[in-house]
Formats: sequence, C-alpha cells, structure tokens
Amino acid sequence: PAGYDVSVIRKDFPILGDVTYLDNAATSFSPEPVVDAIIDFEHNYRANIGRGVHRLTQISSQRYWHAHEKVAKFIGGENGITVFTKNTTEAINMVAGGISWNPGDRIVTTVLEHHSNLLPWRALSKQGVIVDVIGTDSSYSPDLSELKRVICPSTKLVAVTYASNVLGVVTPVCEIAKICHENGIKLLVDGAQAVPHMPVNVSDIGCDFFVFSGHKMLGPTGTGVLWMKEPSIEPLFLGGGMVESVTKDGFTAESGYKRFEAGTPNISGGIGLGIAADYLEKIGMGAVREYEETLTNRLIEGLKKIPGVTVYAPDCPENRIGVVSFNVEGFHPHEIAQELDENADIMVRSGFHCCQPLMEYLGLNEGTVRASIGMYNTMHEIDLLIATIEEIVQ
Ligand code: PMP
Repeated sequence: PAGYDVSVIRKDFPILGDVTYLDNAATSFSPEPVVDAIIDFEHNYRANIGRGVHRLTQISSQRYWHAHEKVAKFIGGENGITVFTKNTTEAINMVAGGISWNPGDRIVTTVLEHHSNLLPWRALSKQGVIVDVIGTDSSYSPDLSELKRVICPSTKLVAVTYASNVLGVVTPVCEIAKICHENGIKLLVDGAQAVPHMPVNVSDIGCDFFVFSGHKMLGPTGTGVLWMKEPSIEPLFLGGGMVESVTKDGFTAESGYKRFEAGTPNISGGIGLGIAADYLEKIGMGAVREYEETLTNRLIEGLKKIPGVTVYAPDCPENRIGVVSFNVEGFHPHEIAQELDENADIMVRSGFHCCQPLMEYLGLNEGTVRASIGMYNTMHEIDLLIATIEEIVQ
C-alpha cells in the first residue's frame, strides 16, 4: 500500500535483525516507542496509580488512564467500557465469572475456538450451564445454519472467534451479531487474532463483549483487553482500586473500567499498550491488512506448489488473515519447526495451537506447523520460508 515502507518499520524492531519471526499469532514483537515507554516509566515516574497525591502517582495515573482512551478509540469502542486485563484468557474468564447464570442457561461456541474461549464456558457446568459447540461450513467458517438451529430460548451467550488462530479464517461476526440480537442473546467476540491484522470497530460489529491480547498487537506481554458495551457483568476480582467506599459490612464499587481492575495493574504494560495502539493507528490498519494480504497470498501459493505439503483452509484469501497452517508429508510438525529454526533462523509454531477440538475435527493427530505473519515481515522472509521447506522436502 502507498506509504507502507516495511524497511522503515523494521528499524523500530531491532530484534528482527536476528531471526525471521513468523510466530506472531503467539505473540508479537514490540516497537521501540513501546519499549521506550516502559523504560521511561521505570526510570522516571514509577508509582502506583489512583492512590495518593504525589506527583509521580499523578503522572503514572494520568498516563495509565489515558492509555484506556487510546485503546478504546483504536477499536471504535469509545461508547463502551475498556478494561485492561492480563490477556485474552483473563478477559474471557472475567465474563464467564461475571454473568449471573441460571441452571439450564446455554452458551454457543464453535469448534474453531482457542481453549481460552471454551474452557471458561465449560467450567460453568458446575452451575448447570450447558455449552453447545457448533461446527464449520466447507470454508471453515462457523456454520451459521447450525447456529440458527441450536440457539433456543435458554441460549444466553454466543462466544466466537473473529479469526481462527489455526486456519486464519475470518468469521462473519456482524452476521452472527445480527442473529444473536434478533434472539435476545449476548455476543462475545474473541478478537485476539483480528485486532493486530485488520481494522476493527466493535460498535459496527454490534457485539456485547470484545476481548483481545495487547501482547499480540505490538504491546507488552501481560496485557490484554476486555471491552464491553455496558457494565452488564459483576466484577470477578474484588479489592483495592475498584471501590469508591468500603464500610464494615459492604462496599460501593467504582463505575467504569476501574470497577473491573482490582489491585495494582500492569501499569507500564498498560501505558505501553496505549503506545502500541498509537503506533498501529499511525501506520493505519487498512494498510497493515493490505500489506499482510500480499504476503499471505504468496505464502499460501508458494507452499501449495511444494509436493507433499498440505495447506489447511487455503482457498479463502480475501477472508483470512496471515495465519497459515500446513503439514509436510513424512514429518512431524515439531520436526519442521526445529529444522526451520536450526537451518534458517525461522521461528514458527508447531503442535495443537491450544485448539485441540479443532485438530480432532480436522483429523490432525499431530497438529500442524503454523506460520503467522506480522506487519513487519517481508516478502523476502516469506520466500525464505518457502525455499527452506522445499529444501527439507528434498
Ligand atoms: N484466543 C485466540 C483466538 C488466540 O489466538 C489466543 C492466543 N493464541 C488466545 C485466545 C489466548 O490469548 P492469551 O494467551 O493472550 O490469553
């Protein structure tokens, strides 16, 4: 895309000089402005937030709170509540633990989900909640006719990924939101794999909860986000920082996101996440999407041409992100990942990708090799991966 100069972008990520990093779906690298923000906090104004009046706490509080506004704006969520969490997993657990469930309530999720968007719902069986897991259609997108079939008056929530962390398929969340709301059902969207790779607007989607990981979108590790349209859940964590007042017998909780952030948070992480949002916004998520699409297409086409290589969900280039799962005949996925590291300094993930039900659904007993593209990868790196796989096959 015009103005997208990857060689300039790469100067902000010195770590890229050492390796070809294609494990962005697991976690991304952080650019220098994010790293600088963490160092600045540690060197110059490290203090707790929302406590006391001294000047360090004022700077720290103000920057941490401001980061929430930046992140909210980045996902078009200014009208809702943007809570900082440790990661996507914590955010989903907060929703699962924060809704008041009744025995017999049902939740619908899909076979595409990361374990984090399955296990917290399943754990609610202790409260009599039932989870329905729907399959996919032939393009590995959630089967919407099955969704319509399984939802019933007891269905309270649908929880679905925006993009699969194994197949890269982008799901039709707007359509799913429509189905949910026609039936009075709340929708949680797991945006962990979408937010780093495409423009996202939670208000346009019309979901009730939107969760994602800061550490996959150039932010520091230990950061994630729970966005909600309304404060429709109870806080899962109680303690300091989330209360307005406490008496001998009770308390009044804070309003807004503070209600959901008990205890001292990851302050520098939150501030760094705000800087990561600024960084991506400046480059433009439309440009990131367009750029990554060209790399993704090249990767899929290149891998497909190699004898013995199977690429999963290869046929929906316009409807996918740059997460590409494949296998090489005669090799365990871990062997391929090891070879790529040892022979070419290429980092990819191998195994089940925290998606074992999907692996079972696809009949993949040993999992897959997964190359996942980030906004700083280059065509040269994609070609290096393809060439190295070719060498391994030979
Ligand atoms: N959902 C999806 C779609 C993911 O890709 C991931 C991370 N692989 C998660 C949830 C969990 O994210 P985290 O480890 O940051 O909690």
